[in-house]
Amino acid sequence: MSAKIIDGKAFAAKIREQVAGHVAALKSEHQITPGLSVVLVGEDPASQVYVRSKGKQTTEVGMNSYEHKLDAATSEADLLALIDQLNADPAVHGILVQLPLPSHLNEDLVINSIAPEKDVDGFHISNVGLLGTDQKSMVPCTPLGCLMMLRDHHGSLSGLDAVVIGRSNIVGKPMVQLLLNDSCTVTVAHSRTKNLPDVVRRADIVVAAVGRAQMVPGDWIKPGATVMDVGINRIDKPEGGTRLVGDVDYESCAAVAGAITPVPGGVGPMTIACLLANTVTACCRTNGVAEPEGLTV
Ligand code: NAD
Repeated sequence: MSAKIIDGKAFAAKIREQVAGHVAALKSEHQITPGLSVVLVGEDPASQVYVRSKGKQTTEVGMNSYEHKLDAATSEADLLALIDQLNADPAVHGILVQLPLPSHLNEDLVINSIAPEKDVDGFHISNVGLLGTDQKSMVPCTPLGCLMMLRDHHGSLSGLDAVVIGRSNIVGKPMVQLLLNDSCTVTVAHSRTKNLPDVVRRADIVVAAVGRAQMVPGDWIKPGATVMDVGINRIDKPEGGTRLVGDVDYESCAAVAGAITPVPGGVGPMTIACLLANTVTACCRTNGVAEPEGLTV
């Protein structure tokens, strides 16, 4: 195995430490405590785990965490009324509505009702448009974490060939924008892409965000390329039980790549760290305080 392992867990710990430092400074110098509201509708077990983890990490860096747990049958009007109330609350600097929402709720409508400056997930159409035109925005957390690790590893990304596999609104598309804004030559591949192995083979940077366990084998990877594995998939172990794997086949890819993120311990931990970073950034922007360097793009 030759690839450098990009340690997302350690990187995320560093980001959290930076965030905690800025939170402490906001409190002592400006008497402001950043606050993050997380709204969970229904009882999806995976969402409950994410929300708990977000709340715990929010308080650990010294911010206020507000959790709003709503019944699965909550009406759209009631959810929108709660978001209106959070939009108007000066103690709340970031609002996150945990997705997916129950099917009777219109996700686009709900996300676009969040005040863009409090939209710490970066999914509001205003933030999507700002990112797409290389303007200051709230940047979606998972691609932001990938970009931070890529910049850390490569320094400049200018001129590198990047292939993003996956075109979702939450990972693939914002990743494409971020890489483009950093002057990569970007190809976005998806379920209808022809000759995917050949497309991936020309990449200096491969970001896999598909949701298919171990789909990318090592012989698709250009020797020395950097592989960012966004996928989180659970598979059965031969001896019983399950384990988490990414969208790339780790062993064979690590044998040819120059650097690779493991699953778990790669992109995953960076996502919540970037959520905390976005909340501090949002708080600084709202209050006209200089925003911290290195926590956003
Ligand atoms: P999604 O289902 O919304 O999108 C998947 C994309 O993959 C689609 O654009 C589709 O066109 C493409 N695709 C599907 N089959 C393909 C194929 N055979 N070849 C090429 N492309 C194909 O998924 P998502 O929300 O973008 O998430 C992708 C993965 O990332 C999932 O495993 C998810 O769990 C994981 N994820 C991880 C984090 C994290 O914090 N690490 C955050 C978000 C998502």
